[in-house]
Amino acid sequence: MLNNSIIKQRVKEAYALLEKCRVCPRECGVNRLKNEQGFCRSGLLPVVSSYNFHHGEEPPISGYRGSGTIFLTNCNLRCVFCQNYPISQLGVGNEVTIEELARMMLKLQKMGCHNINFVTPTHFTPQILKAIGLALEDGLTIPLLWNSNGYDSVEMLRLLDGIINIYLPDAKYIDPQMAQRYSNAPPNYIDLNLATIKEMWRQVGSLVVDNDGIAQKGLIVRHLVLPEGIADTKQVLKILAQEISTNVSVSLMSQYFPANKASSYPEINRKISHEEYNDALNCLDKEGLHEGWIQPY
Ligand code: SF4
Repeated sequence: MLNNSIIKQRVKEAYALLEKCRVCPRECGVNRLKNEQGFCRSGLLPVVSSYNFHHGEEPPISGYRGSGTIFLTNCNLRCVFCQNYPISQLGVGNEVTIEELARMMLKLQKMGCHNINFVTPTHFTPQILKAIGLALEDGLTIPLLWNSNGYDSVEMLRLLDGIINIYLPDAKYIDPQMAQRYSNAPPNYIDLNLATIKEMWRQVGSLVVDNDGIAQKGLIVRHLVLPEGIADTKQVLKILAQEISTNVSVSLMSQYFPANKASSYPEINRKISHEEYNDALNCLDKEGLHEGWIQPY
């Protein structure tokens, strides 16, 4: 882990990006130091909906004692099918101080969690970084995991280099029109999602686990298969294989169901079929992506 003076310098640089906010690629330009809000509806203090151990992540993340999830409220995307929409879109959660956020990490470590898992952290990157600095001073040692939607700023991610051990981003789409229609993503989403994943790969590389199979370091890319080929799974996997590596771990998820506003979009108002998931599995094979996890279907 980096020494404390380097982390303090990084925190300073990260907070500077809040003034005309470009904490994420939307670059809203609002002054979040003065609590102005942009697309993510977030001000200066972090907002947390819950923190606890969690057993539903990929096996090396949840392990046998659970992953220490901290669910951050709000999001810089707005997926019409989001399963966590009360947290990500309706603002369910409470403002906490940086000191309180640091104490949550230490409490999760004390509970025996294998890691600290920041869920939807992107729009609060500076605040999380500052809290990590405090928690490290007070004895935080377990791996830190960045569980993001994959629409992060590369400039901001560089400030996490050497601090975050495990990255768990989404690769959701390949077609900007689909990204816009179903996740309210701007036109730069596709390019910047790839840039995000490349930067994460540069920092941490392939997944490394300990003797118990618990993740210590590395990148896992999540891809949610959507009905009607809307997520372009074949192309997403092809690009991961070609632009990142065939050694990258991929978590291919079949768990889609029409949550939130999905019922207003007839084409996604159903679960995926066995055939759609089987097609996705075949694509994994075809691209030589053999590291990672599939879900039973
Ligand atoms: S973090 Fe929020 S306010 Fe800042 S650029 Fe992203 S969406 Fe806009």
